[in-house]
Amino acid sequence: MYLVSARDMLRKAKAGHYAVGHFNINNLEWTKAILETAEEQQSPVILGVSEGAGKYMGGFDVVVGMVNGLLKDLDISVPVALHLDHGTYDGCYKCLRAGFSSIMFDGSSLPIDENVAKTTELIKEAHRHGISIEAEVGAIGGEEDGVIGAGECADPAECKKIADLGVDFLAAGIGNIHGVYPENWQGLSFETLEKVKVAVGEMPLVLHGGSGIPADQVKKAITLGVSKVNVNTECQIVFTEATRKYFEENKDKAPKGFDPRKVLKPGYGAIKEMVKEKMELFGSVGKA
Ligand SMILES: [Zn+2]
Repeated sequence: MYLVSARDMLRKAKAGHYAVGHFNINNLEWTKAILETAEEQQSPVILGVSEGAGKYMGGFDVVVGMVNGLLKDLDISVPVALHLDHGTYDGCYKCLRAGFSSIMFDGSSLPIDENVAKTTELIKEAHRHGISIEAEVGAIGGEEDGVIGAGECADPAECKKIADLGVDFLAAGIGNIHGVYPENWQGLSFETLEKVKVAVGEMPLVLHGGSGIPADQVKKAITLGVSKVNVNTECQIVFTEATRKYFEENKDKAPKGFDPRKVLKPGYGAIKEMVKEKMELFGSVGKA
């Protein structure tokens, strides 16, 4: 199976009242774990790549080569999209050229007029290449922004303005946050989500910061039009915990325990478990 745009995948999800998981990748083990789990669960999947992760792996061409190679050699038959996560204007063009099947342009920090102008241009480019595009309205909070407690809530009128430009799916801040949720987090704003849903109509919505949102809130968000849920932090945490355990149990001191393939195996298994759990929660199992 070749990489596919996320457009039809998410329209189908919206109509079927489930969501497709977007899982960020960091290396080969991560990517293989997610693709194998998607195949086992017969679930569509979106592989997310931030610009930082792309740079870490050597560049976007490396990422495209690795993912396409895995699709072929692992005989993956479920729909898979390779998506740029929180792309800059330049990053979007780089991914278009490298062969990504989906991009996100994050113009949320720009004044709305500039966000509109750049989003309009990139929609045209993305669609000319036959790939999907996500846009963002209302910055999504995170530790790096010094946000504590509540994430930002998007203005439904601005959401409509961006949705009407022709993006394929839209990320709207509804109190969600990137990274680990603080103790005093207020929860998702379903009031905002309902208003955004009314404003944008059939447009599939994206929930960023999907790690650590209680399951009942995620399920409710899906019933209110969320069709893509981004998961990153939780996979990182379980990977690191499993790897730490390997060393704490002195498994690296066992014969050949220093073999990197052995060292990384528990983390790989932990990601598989997490991805499976999320696919079950999002309702995407068997929807490939
Ligand atoms: Zn995000």
